[in-house]
Amino acid sequence: MLYEGKAKKLYTTETPNVLRMEYKDEATAFNAEKKAVFENKGKLNKAITLLIYEMLEKKGVPTHLVDDLDEVNLLVKSVDILQVEVIVRNVAAGSFCRRMGVEEGLEFKTPIVEFSYKSDELGDPLINDDYARELGLATPAECAFLKEQALVINEVQKEFFAKCGLKLVDFKIEFGRLAEDPSQIVLADEVSPDTCRLWDLKTGEKMDKDRFRQDLGGVMEGYEEVLKRVKDASK
Ligand code: UDP
Repeated sequence: MLYEGKAKKLYTTETPNVLRMEYKDEATAFNAEKKAVFENKGKLNKAITLLIYEMLEKKGVPTHLVDDLDEVNLLVKSVDILQVEVIVRNVAAGSFCRRMGVEEGLEFKTPIVEFSYKSDELGDPLINDDYARELGLATPAECAFLKEQALVINEVQKEFFAKCGLKLVDFKIEFGRLAEDPSQIVLADEVSPDTCRLWDLKTGEKMDKDRFRQDLGGVMEGYEEVLKRVKDASK
């Protein structure tokens, strides 16, 4: 094992620069103040991430995906994760509402892209390009690329989730520099209901980790429904 995070573990494999990413059943929220274990979460998030990555690759978005492996494992390219988390918002929710004092559900005319410093210790503080440059997290050119890619990913995912009858409210993504060629930056980590807010297009029902954060119940039922719809839309 190379690394254990809150939701995944990373292992080396026999192939150089290829790692095994294992999706865990553990869930955390509010900077790990709230914790729980959900049976099947790893399996569901792995399956959702795989289908989304395959869909993004088809649309020309490079990811670290190499191959599917088994129920809870993907093979991925080894990357050096940029310590900048990129958040895209189409609709106000979560920390945006807390920070700005607006009601959940406000639709943005144009998406908002936000950077935060990936640091559990500091609670992932909001940063901008200047912070990233001065702290050596990403160069100005890399920040511009992250923002541009995030907006492309948003458009592709928004359209795809709409086909699933889901509204893509917001999401967090991470990028990595390929170990075999650090000049190439690809989408890494996961795309799942742990990292995206998804609302049913018709009823507005929350289908994502907010069910856990807000104690709405039926957390895995929400994830299962997302997987079912993502599978159908991928056919
Ligand atoms: N998010 C995430 N990991 C984080 C912070 C946020 O996956 O460490 C996702 C979250 O699930 C949501 C989006 O990024 O889809 C925006 O989250 P927000 O900033 O509103 O924070 P939260 O309400 O989760 O504290």
